[in-house]
Amino acid sequence: MSTPTATALTPIVVAPAQVIRGNLVLGGEAIARLGRRPLVVGGETTLAALQGELPKILEQQQLNAATASYSPDCTEASLAFLRSKVQEHQADVIIGVGGGKALDTAKLLAHQCQLPIATVPTSAATCAAWTALANVYSSEGAFLYDVPLDRCPDLLILDYTLIQTAPQRTLVAGIGDALAKWYEASVSSASSQATFIIAAVQQARVLRDILFQKSAAALKEPGGEEWRSVVDATVMLAGVIGGLGGAQCRTVAAHAVHNGLTHISASHSSLHGEKVAYGILVQLRLEEMVQGNQLAATARQQLLKFYDEIGLPQSLEDLGLGNIALSDLRQAAEIACAANSDIHRLPFKVAPDHLMAAMVSTTTSAIKN
Ligand SMILES: [Zn+2]
Repeated sequence: MSTPTATALTPIVVAPAQVIRGNLVLGGEAIARLGRRPLVVGGETTLAALQGELPKILEQQQLNAATASYSPDCTEASLAFLRSKVQEHQADVIIGVGGGKALDTAKLLAHQCQLPIATVPTSAATCAAWTALANVYSSEGAFLYDVPLDRCPDLLILDYTLIQTAPQRTLVAGIGDALAKWYEASVSSASSQATFIIAAVQQARVLRDILFQKSAAALKEPGGEEWRSVVDATVMLAGVIGGLGGAQCRTVAAHAVHNGLTHISASHSSLHGEKVAYGILVQLRLEEMVQGNQLAATARQQLLKFYDEIGLPQSLEDLGLGNIALSDLRQAAEIACAANSDIHRLPFKVAPDHLMAAMVSTTTSAIKN
């Protein structure tokens, strides 16, 4: 019989402590239970758009709120500035309002200052409102590193009315980001024997099927039942999978390609989920080219059809990168292939040359190479 040894404490962080969802549910009561002096963190546009409404909601609960912008990005400099704002306002709770970057900044700020955090997503473009993870970027918008947080947000307010005001393109991007869960988790974790990782991989398949079945109808009728299902899938179910699977089942090549692309400034006009969606095709193409994997070839053809239907980018041209210099493409590929990159979770070696060849051939119809 073996003697048990102490294991390192890895917290299981699956879900926010409280989730409120519905139409026009942005209220101050739940926030008031977390603190009396919120610092609201968002982008300038979001803060201006909410100028009339949010202060009123907070005042109704006699909360003393201040606002601060995270612009230009979730950077170390923005975080230092925001920590000074926390001090200045004597904030006792952080409210993140906006898209993925605003929410990541707010979550990381709360983590650094050890304050409770409420997230209010204004689009369904990512699962950042849910997860215990924050991405840090350079002031030029290049991905630098991610920070695992000790818990998911204390409160998530998913207001469908608010999310419906976001451009349709954000939901399409959210679908792309959520789809990646299956294509990445099934590669990195399908052989895992750990209970939660098995569960995460299965949920990722369920998530993919929900998106295949409901996305087209959802986009035709914003605010409708299918639309809500898809918003729940991109904001919440994708987050559950990240939480269940933990770091081991998070990303592979699709996100590594995204991370590499963020170092090319011309890529900044496309959204996170758009670059990730393209990255899924690159990942499948790598599996086809390096391994001769026929299932990957079939999956890529199936995705191309789906992308066409809902408007996700299929190629560098679709991302507005049709004319990038070869040196830029090489730089993105080298960053994506850096020693610590998740691309190396693929079951074969990937060099920048392979990756570049895959990046320029995502739409090829040839199944054999
Ligand atoms: Zn992502």
